[in-house]
Amino acid sequence: MEWIKYDRDNSLCALAREHGIAPGTVDSRIKNWGWDLERALTTPPRQCNRIVGGFKICTGCGEKKPILEYDNKRSQCKPCIKKYNKELGQEKKILVLTHYSGSPPRCALCGEDNISVLCIDHIEGGGTKDRKKKGKIGSLAFHYAVIKAGYPSNLRVLCRNCNWLEWIRVKDEKEGEKDEV
Ligand SMILES: [Zn+2]
Ligand SMILES: [Zn+2]
Repeated sequence: MEWIKYDRDNSLCALAREHGIAPGTVDSRIKNWGWDLERALTTPPRQCNRIVGGFKICTGCGEKKPILEYDNKRSQCKPCIKKYNKELGQEKKILVLTHYSGSPPRCALCGEDNISVLCIDHIEGGGTKDRKKKGKIGSLAFHYAVIKAGYPSNLRVLCRNCNWLEWIRVKDEKEGEKDEV
């Protein structure tokens, strides 16, 4: 596309201004973000992108807050990002739990259905090893990884209690094997 090379071209800047886009944004939207021309021209700028006197408006809560309350160039303030991640985490967790245990999710061993005590268990252990391989990751990243891996078959839903009891059972079994050798 010829006009990706555009640099502060007057006619394009006029076009951008007409669509409420700051000069210089159109090419960066295409070059950096891979948007098509239509989208680059018709999407209005986010209010928060304008920093006025050290303040910007959060696109989450709509409040005007000092830029110190934002991480890097995020458009939402830190509390909004935190809330968003928490909701997203809960959503992904339910998605993964439901895949393995049906709806509503429940423990494969005792039937406990309180979401806050349910977790993903590696059948016959291997969870710690798996986590070591992947490095220390949070719950959101873990659930994302499960979805991305296409829901591996060595996982199931357990409650914290059963998860702990299983861990002890598998550990005892492995130690038993060692003794037999
Ligand atoms: Zn906010
Ligand atoms: Zn259980």
